[in-house]
Amino acid sequence: MVVSSLNFLLNQTFQVFSLSAQRPERIYYFYKMIKIETFTFNPFQENTFVVYDETGEAVVIDPGCYEAHEKKELAQFIESSKLTVKLLLNTHCHIDHVLGNHFIKSKYQVPFLIHEKELPVLQAVKSYASNYGFPLYSETLPDLFLKEHQPVLFGNTTMLTMLLPGHAPGHIGFYHSQSNSLLSGDVLFESSIGRTDLPGGDYNTLIKSIQEKVFALPDETIVYAGHGNTTTVGEEKLTNPFCAIPVTR
Ligand SMILES: [Zn+2]
Ligand SMILES: [Zn+2]
Repeated sequence: MVVSSLNFLLNQTFQVFSLSAQRPERIYYFYKMIKIETFTFNPFQENTFVVYDETGEAVVIDPGCYEAHEKKELAQFIESSKLTVKLLLNTHCHIDHVLGNHFIKSKYQVPFLIHEKELPVLQAVKSYASNYGFPLYSETLPDLFLKEHQPVLFGNTTMLTMLLPGHAPGHIGFYHSQSNSLLSGDVLFESSIGRTDLPGGDYNTLIKSIQEKVFALPDETIVYAGHGNTTTVGEEKLTNPFCAIPVTR
């Protein structure tokens, strides 16, 4: 097996002994993994993610960079890590998650993907960007729409699209099962949930998305949220004040 860098390998190896052979036959199984780099940008303290694997191919999720130094920080990471950006993805299209779309799209010339129900949310941003203090916001429209369960492919990696409405009508998350990672935007936070008072938001729909879809993932799933720290499905299932599942005795 040819591998480009040991950095990308999990430290798991198994020794397998052949029953018939005199000499033990050692077989190594290398698990390819993704790496997730987090940046926190703009006054909303929004988390921007670069996800990449051992091939060097990468996707940028929710680029919130607006100021020149924020764009520089993101681009320098991509350059110094020798990454090739293949896709631009938005979990949803509130202003804090879309400020850097134009920068990424124009710099790397990659397809931009959202869920179709986020299109009006995205198109509304230009009408209020100045009022929020972002007069230089430049609109970028999507090239393709993602559907629920649709795989997102780059390098050797497949992430699955999960439709998680409630905070925004076409809010999606990206689940990578091999690493137990969910990039989930503003659905579920450490001890909190996304707000539901914005246009297209609905509290009951959000709770349903979390309890029926996010909480159906393994407890050890790491939740990379759109704001704040990472958490896990198991932790939030037990302790989240808004959506914990009561333990029945
Ligand atoms: Zn949001
Ligand atoms: Zn947000």
